[in-house]
Amino acid sequence: MSLELRDVTVDYGSKRAVDAVSINVEVGSVLALVGPSGCGKSSLLRAIAGLVPLAGGHVSWDGEDLTNTPTERRDLGFMFQDHALFTHRNVEDNVAFGLRMQGVPAGERSARVRELLALVGLDGFESRAVEGLSGGEAQRVALARALAPSPRILLLDEPLASLDRARRDELNDELSGLLRELGQTAIYVTHDQDEAFAIADEVGVMSAGELVRVGTPSAVWSDPRTEFVARFVGHETIVERDGLRFAVRDDAIQFADASQGVAASVMTCRFQGDRHRVVAKGEDGTRWSGWSLDPLVIGARVGVVLDAERLAPLE
Ligand code: ADP
Ligand code: MG
Repeated sequence: MSLELRDVTVDYGSKRAVDAVSINVEVGSVLALVGPSGCGKSSLLRAIAGLVPLAGGHVSWDGEDLTNTPTERRDLGFMFQDHALFTHRNVEDNVAFGLRMQGVPAGERSARVRELLALVGLDGFESRAVEGLSGGEAQRVALARALAPSPRILLLDEPLASLDRARRDELNDELSGLLRELGQTAIYVTHDQDEAFAIADEVGVMSAGELVRVGTPSAVWSDPRTEFVARFVGHETIVERDGLRFAVRDDAIQFADASQGVAASVMTCRFQGDRHRVVAKGEDGTRWSGWSLDPLVIGARVGVVLDAERLAPLE
């Protein structure tokens, strides 16, 4: 079973926001859609949800065409950056919302709410006012609300973007564990590749409305195939060898003494705990960025040694 997108296209007037995207999302797996702001991630999610009309293509689940099925009958859960909780209702009422819509009886509803709150680490929060919650707690409530009706697909649009870095990493890890534990099929939209890599079974990279690369996080990282994807996943250095172009992965570079490799001078060396992020500039202007265990002196001459096995060929 899978969610199938075939040539999904979204237009806003004359502006094409999503351009013929095709992909399958297997049941129980998590797809992360990543790409810079404005590349069409949210529009694609809205198209899957039926919140925008398709200018072309099809959305189906297990062979059943959903293209003309209204949003409320697609069996979806939503979680957005702005949690959009009902602020005048307490936590229990918020989590129970979808269950009430489904006509689940009151007793069963409270049991399910209790179960969901425990799942997201908010035991005993039932009667708390939404207004008094921290950002992280509110997002947990939004997650519990989205999961309560056991939707066949959970759609998440930058759900952690409003949180600070530490909270974001923590919730990202928890969310990842939770989705796996539940076997929840999910599509997770983010502009942050670290977040995407941490949560996804498969990553889909978007650029200007198109899906330009799909693969496991490690496949996309080690073999980005295009300069756009290479830069997006953080490979900043592109080199040419024998007329072919390669993205230089971080792990392909070693900074040695100046008698070895390619001559360069250290431009920046940033302490990162157990190692240092180094950028060195070659004589031809190439910026080499990689890691060094030892701190390097700014301006020092070094030799950049490349591991040819770790250069990723570009198309
Ligand atoms: P992302 O989520 O990747 O940031 P969006 O899907 O929000 O991208 O937007 C894709 C493109 O469509 C952008 O150029 C954006 O300005 C445009 N867009 C989004 N929503 C609308 C809308 N309601 N009307 C017109 N243009 C829109
Ligand atoms: Mg968006």
